[in-house]
Amino acid sequence: MQRIPLLINGEWVQSQTTQWRDVINPATQQVLAQVPMATVEEVDAAVAAARQAFASWKRTPIGTRARIFLRLQQLIREHMKALAAVLTAEQGKTLADAEGDIFRGLEVVEHAANIGTLQMGEFAENVAGGVDTYTLMQPLGVCAGITPFNFPAMIPLWMFPMAIACGNTFVLKPSEQDPMVTTKLVELALEAGIPAGVLNVVHGGPEVVNRLCDHPDIKAISFVGSSKVGTHVYQRASLAGKRVQCMMGAKNHAIVLPDANKEQALNQLTGAAFGAAGQRCMALTVAVLVGEAQQWIPELVAKARTLKVSAGTEPGTDVGPLISCSAKERVQSLIERGVADGATLELDGRQVQVAGFDQGNFVGPTIFSGVKPGMAIYDQEIFGPVLCLVAADSLDEAIDFINANPNGNGTAIFTQSGAAARKFQEEIDVGQVGINVPIPVPVPLFSFTGSRASKLGDLGPYGKQVVLFYTQTKTVTARWFDDPASTGGKVNTTIS
Ligand code: NAD
Repeated sequence: MQRIPLLINGEWVQSQTTQWRDVINPATQQVLAQVPMATVEEVDAAVAAARQAFASWKRTPIGTRARIFLRLQQLIREHMKALAAVLTAEQGKTLADAEGDIFRGLEVVEHAANIGTLQMGEFAENVAGGVDTYTLMQPLGVCAGITPFNFPAMIPLWMFPMAIACGNTFVLKPSEQDPMVTTKLVELALEAGIPAGVLNVVHGGPEVVNRLCDHPDIKAISFVGSSKVGTHVYQRASLAGKRVQCMMGAKNHAIVLPDANKEQALNQLTGAAFGAAGQRCMALTVAVLVGEAQQWIPELVAKARTLKVSAGTEPGTDVGPLISCSAKERVQSLIERGVADGATLELDGRQVQVAGFDQGNFVGPTIFSGVKPGMAIYDQEIFGPVLCLVAADSLDEAIDFINANPNGNGTAIFTQSGAAARKFQEEIDVGQVGINVPIPVPVPLFSFTGSRASKLGDLGPYGKQVVLFYTQTKTVTARWFDDPASTGGKVNTTIS
C-alpha cells in the first residue's frame, strides 16, 4: 500500500504518526493509498524549514523565481494526461473535467511566471523639494495553504505558485480526501527548480490545521473550503496575528429570463448544476425562473435525464460519483428532507444504477421545483447534483431573492437583453457574475472574488489581488543631499 509522504526541507519523508486515513476511489471503493495525519512536531519541522529557506529565497532575483514557473507550466502540460488519471481515480470527476481542473491551475502558474510585472512598487518624485517616496512590495515570510477536496489540482495551484513567486516560502496542507494529484504537482514543482525548504507539504485534519493557524512563524494563511471550517480558520489564525483569506461555501443562483436563448440557457444550466456531480463551489444550484421561463421545467428535466452517470474514466460520462459514502448519504438525506419540506421532486436521482460500478457513490441528477427559503435544500449547500427551481415574476424580484441569500460566491443571468444584464451586474451582491456564462470563474489576469458569507478577508486568492495578499508594502521616503555645505558637512553625500 502506497503511503503518501510529507515534504520537509526538500526531502520526501514518511510520517511517524500512528494515524493514517485511506484515500479511496469513489467510483469503486478501491483503497489507492494511505495519507498520514501528521504530528505537531512534523508540522513544526516543515515550518522551521520554510522559515530557514526564506532567508535566501526572499533575495532570489525576480527572473530566477519567474523561470521556475515557466518550467513548471511546461512540465504540467507534458504530464497532463497522467495527472488527470490520478485526479479522476481519487476524486471521481471525469477525465475531461480533471484536465480542466489542472488547466485552470496551470493558468495561475503561467501568471506566476509574470511576477516581474506584478510585484512592482510605486514611485513619486519630489513629494517635497528633493524628496522622493516609493514603495517596496516585500514578501511576508512563511505562508500556509489549506485546500478542499473538490479541486485538488487547481486550488493548490492558486496558492503556492503565487506565494513563492512573490518571494515567500510555503507550507501546503492538501485535502486528506484526495492528496495524490497534489503530491504529483509538488513533485513537478521540485523538478522545475523550487529549492529545498521553499515548498513543504504536510497532511492531516483539524489538528494540523489548528497548528498552522497557531504557529507564530507563519505570517499568512490561504484557505479554501466550507464556510464552517473557513470561519474557524479565519478566527483562529487572525487571533494569532496572521493575515488570512478564506474562500468558502456557496449557494449559486442563476436567473433565467423568458427572453433567453432557451436551448443554450437550459444546456448551460444543466451542465453547471450537474457537472462534477455538483461538487463545485461555482455550481449553479438554484435557478430562478422568471415569468414564462417557468414553462421550461419539462425541457430542463428532459435534458437532465439524458446525462450519463458513471465513473469518471468511462467514455461519455457527464456525472461522476460523490467524493465519499458519507457525502452520498448526506445528499440523499437532503433530498428526503426536500420532499418532506414540500418541494416538488421533478427528477429523483437517488436510485440511479451504474453498470459495472455498483459500489460507487453515485447520485443522479435531481431537480426540485417550488423551493423556498426555510427548506433545508435551499438553506444548506448540498454539494451534490441537486438543482432547486424557484419562481419569480420579475427581474427585480429575482435580484432581491438572490441578494437575500447569505452566500455570494457566483451567479449568472440568461437573457438577450443588454439592459437587463446591466441592471443585474450592477445590483447583484455576488463576487463572480456571469452573463450568459454559467460558471464565471475569472482567468488569473483578474482575481477570484466572493461576497458576504462566501468569503472572509478582503483580497482574492489569485491574480493581482493575491500579490497584495502575499506581500507587505514598505514605503520609503528618501532625500539625497548633493551639497555637503548645506548639512554643515555632517553627512557624507559622496556617491561611490
Ligand atoms: P472542508 O472545509 O471540509 O475542508 C477544507 C480543508 O479544511 C481540508 O484541508 C480539511 O482537511 C480541513 N478541515 C476539515 N475539517 C476541519 C476542521 N474541523 N478543523 C480544521 N480543518 C478542517 O471542505 P471540503 O469538503 O474539502 O470542500 C468543499 C467546500 O469547499 C464547499 O463548501 C465548497 O463550496 C468550498 N469551496 C469553496 C471555493 C471558493 O473558492 N469559494 C472553492 C472550492 C471549494
